[in-house]
Amino acid sequence: MSTFNLQNIVRKHILSLAPYSSARDEYTGKEGIFLDANENPLGSATPENWNRYPDPYQWEIKKKLAPIKGCRPSQIFLGNGSDEPIDLIIRLTCEPQEDNIIILPPTYGMYEVSASVNNVEIQKINLTADYQLDTDKILASINLKTKLVFICSPNNPTGNIIHRASILKIIENLQHGIVIIDEAYNDFADEPSFISELDSFPNVMVLQTFSKAWGLASLRLGMAFAGEELIKLLNKIKYPYNINGLTQKALLENIDNLDFVKNTVQTLTQNKEKLSNDLDKLEIVTKIFPSDANYLLVKFTKAKQVFDYLIEHKTIVRDRSKVVLCEDSLRISVGTEVENEQLISLLNTYKPLN
Ligand SMILES: *Cc1c(COP(=O)(O)O)cnc(C)c1O
Repeated sequence: MSTFNLQNIVRKHILSLAPYSSARDEYTGKEGIFLDANENPLGSATPENWNRYPDPYQWEIKKKLAPIKGCRPSQIFLGNGSDEPIDLIIRLTCEPQEDNIIILPPTYGMYEVSASVNNVEIQKINLTADYQLDTDKILASINLKTKLVFICSPNNPTGNIIHRASILKIIENLQHGIVIIDEAYNDFADEPSFISELDSFPNVMVLQTFSKAWGLASLRLGMAFAGEELIKLLNKIKYPYNINGLTQKALLENIDNLDFVKNTVQTLTQNKEKLSNDLDKLEIVTKIFPSDANYLLVKFTKAKQVFDYLIEHKTIVRDRSKVVLCEDSLRISVGTEVENEQLISLLNTYKPLN
């Protein structure tokens, strides 16, 4: 691990750049007469006041989140969805048209979109037939211009956990780049997070989100966890007040209710088992992939026809049948008991066209 040096990975102009210094950077106290940010001192039109800029580093949230996640507040970055840290880590490290990232299809779409927006080359190394890492091929593809490897575990859309040993192998062999482990669905899996190992791996960034198990997708709040040095660099290039005050307030009202998350995971896991059993009885279902997440990848005979039939009946699943290694597969989010029963009864009355 000793050869890793973040300074060699970050784009040179960012290392030397002077970040914007906001009013709330320059005076961090909470008490006083605030005449430094050109805010409206009269308040807002509504009873609740939104006239003051929010904390640019969301310390109140991070202090509550750190013990929940088993890390230090300074190892946390909060973003406008996971989309923000995905974009920022690419912009922090990848010189457009020069550096490259590795992604592992079939996987989450945003890594490719963000890299493309930033005009950064993408190397695609498909997962194996059982949706695990092709470690030899990944390691052979890493070159001196490879800055990032995105690993999604549990993987979207396949639903499975990626074996820890193979992730560790990539981490140990990427000394001039960063491994991003997207754990958006970790709450649903019986697998420890890589957050607890950040102190051993300075070349790792973990992504999690409030959009799934926490039930807060509308807030747009994603988390990144990494060593302090990397988090400081992300803070340096983010929009100064990237998490708005309304979102911070709403999260603080939710964050103590860990029972909600626990009960959600328990309920959705039960619903998933039931849904999987019910799907298994259908003749049109040819395979249900094992899932450590809150969705099932399901293989059908003529998936597109099934998809269209469900749409006709106002039941919307995700068509993944055109995605590599997901031929004839639909991704189905686990719903409530009633929603899942309605889906199953629709599929029961489905008559395949010839
Ligand atoms: C849903 C999801 C996210 C979360 O995205 P947000 O922008 O935080 O809502 C991240 N990664 C994967 C793989 C996902 O499926």
